[in-house]
Amino acid sequence: MSEPIERCDPDELARIKRRLERERAARREAETVSERGLRRLYAREQELLLLQDVATAANLSQSVRDFFQYALARICDFMAWPLGHAYEVVSADGETRLRSMTLWYARDDAVGTFRDATRLREFAPGEGLPGQTFISGKPQWLTGVPDREDFLRRSEARACLISTACAFPVHVGEEVVAVFEFFSERALQPSQSLLALMPQVGLHLGRAIERQRAEDRLIHDASHDPLTGLPNRALFLERLHQSIAHARRKADVQFAVLFIDLDRFKIVNDSLGHLAGDRLITQVAGRLTGALRREDVVARPDATTPDSSTLARLGGDEFTILLTDIHDPSDAVRVANRVKDALHQPFAIDGQEVYTSASIGIASSASGYESADAILRDADLAMYRAKALGKARWELFDREMHQAAMTRLALETDLRHALQNEEFVLHYQPVVSLRTGEVAGFEALVRWQKPDGELVLPGGFIETMEDTGLIVFLGAWVLREACRAARILEELYPGERAPSISVNVSSRQFAQPDLAAQIRSVIAEVGIDPHHLRLEITESAMIGDMDRVAAVLRELKEIGVRVSIDDFGTGYSSLSYLHSLPLDVLKIDRSFVSAIARNGESLQIVRTIMSLAHNLGMDVIAEGPEDAEQVSQLRSIGCEFGQGYYFSRPIDLPAAIAFLARTRSATETPC
Ligand code: C2E
Ligand code: MG
Ligand code: MG
Repeated sequence: MSEPIERCDPDELARIKRRLERERAARREAETVSERGLRRLYAREQELLLLQDVATAANLSQSVRDFFQYALARICDFMAWPLGHAYEVVSADGETRLRSMTLWYARDDAVGTFRDATRLREFAPGEGLPGQTFISGKPQWLTGVPDREDFLRRSEARACLISTACAFPVHVGEEVVAVFEFFSERALQPSQSLLALMPQVGLHLGRAIERQRAEDRLIHDASHDPLTGLPNRALFLERLHQSIAHARRKADVQFAVLFIDLDRFKIVNDSLGHLAGDRLITQVAGRLTGALRREDVVARPDATTPDSSTLARLGGDEFTILLTDIHDPSDAVRVANRVKDALHQPFAIDGQEVYTSASIGIASSASGYESADAILRDADLAMYRAKALGKARWELFDREMHQAAMTRLALETDLRHALQNEEFVLHYQPVVSLRTGEVAGFEALVRWQKPDGELVLPGGFIETMEDTGLIVFLGAWVLREACRAARILEELYPGERAPSISVNVSSRQFAQPDLAAQIRSVIAEVGIDPHHLRLEITESAMIGDMDRVAAVLRELKEIGVRVSIDDFGTGYSSLSYLHSLPLDVLKIDRSFVSAIARNGESLQIVRTIMSLAHNLGMDVIAEGPEDAEQVSQLRSIGCEFGQGYYFSRPIDLPAAIAFLARTRSATETPC
């Protein structure tokens, strides 16, 4: 049994009291320690929960904005701070700025003035809290906000009773892409744990932006041309669909499509190479963009919306422009003129000056379109018309043009049938020596003998055949048929006396890599002397890759075939260009010949061409003399050969043979 306390000695009592005190204190301390540990554990758990929530939301959110909105609320809740806001980093024209994303979390509405001040101002790097956070790439903590010089919104902060601020950057790799800022009315000292946590949150936030960027890039790549970065056909058509739908809803809305095709692009590509071609395309894209950027593009007093036009590259040297919200087609014409002007100055490509121009077709919604394909097709047709009318110009699509296109389509079908059914015939036009009157040869000229009896001249179908590529098949047929005629003439006039037969070779045929081989095999198959075959090639077909042209001509030379340059004077080539090519005959275009009797200048031109051709060792044939006066003029300047109606129109083979017989006997009869 213990003794009652009152009986204890007072010293003993004091000792016991002290011990009890110590024990109590130790227990208290132990409790505090474990409570602090628990609290720390709890805080750590909360931090992990925050990071986990943010990471999950990053994966689930539909957009970066949705995600940021959630994150602001979640972080404010975690810190028990009433106000949060996000900035995005925007770069334009070489300047970087921090601009409000107008994303806020606010526990009460009493911060209106502060929000306004934030929304209305942008921060340069280093400027204010967001600028400092951007520059340092680290979290910032500001106390005593209303009195700080470096807090630029201090007066509004004071009005809204804001006392403490903190901010942290959102990173994608090394790059700061956004800044989050938070505010509290309490005077709070920097929290090391919060400052340590923020960069981790910032990383999660950055991942969402990174993912969004990758998605944007994918979408962008699928809808843009990789060379120029312009919208591609798919995106252009999508915008066109939208415009059509919009115009359907609003009767007074008009739009137009410009179809732009570069003139002479093929020449640049062929002569300077594909890389140079690509460079030209890129520079043209730049100039077209510049031409559209001008504020008065659409000639609207309020035309400041950059969305009123879409420039796209369809491929190759084809560009399109969609102009929305125009008043009438003349607005589109104005833009077409601007495009023309933009291409006027030469381009510097690999140290060379390169000139190009554009043929532009315009189709406007005034014609009432229901489909994107239809308006694009019509703009394309108008472009072709611009090309046909001399290039470097624009043409507006109209109903007649549409009709012409339908007719052309029908013609194409008919021509395919005509090839299958062998409805073509060759006529032969004599080439006559102006000195002796003897027939030196014939030019084989193709005609389409329609089943209904109509005889169609090349002017009615050759161009379509060129455009569709059918000319290659027709050309092969013409070559074989002409060689057969040459064979008949060889048999009638054996040896050197047989007249030559000339065959026209289109540029498409000339571009075929196996042209020489084809000719060689037809000559062998039909069995003619290659000297009796001539090929007529126009100047324009010979422009382009000089080395290739020269190589093909040399190959033909080796076969023994002679080559004439047809329609000379209508193309771009100069005689110095011809100088390096192995050519035998130069045919002066009919336009010069028909003018010689009327004006002295033409006679002078013909004389000059002749003397230069002679210097190059070429024979000259004057195309299309129609009367005695022209013939005598040609004779007077020493032109050797003529091929024109004056002597004979193109005639069928039996008539040609009869003509030949007549002139041969006439020239052979001694007079
Ligand atoms: P081209 O090769 O320059 O042929 C001469 C053209 O001038 C022929 O027209 C001929 O009938 C015409 N002509 C000749 N003398 C006179 C004249 O005194 N007055 C007038 N007004 N015309 C004259 P055609 O037969 O209508 O052929 C036109 C063009 O079609 C040819 O011009 C040639 O470029 C092309 N062509 C004709 N046949 C063929 C062919 O088989 N293949 C290819 N690729 N093109 C052909
Ligand atoms: Mg010809
Ligand atoms: Mg000709």
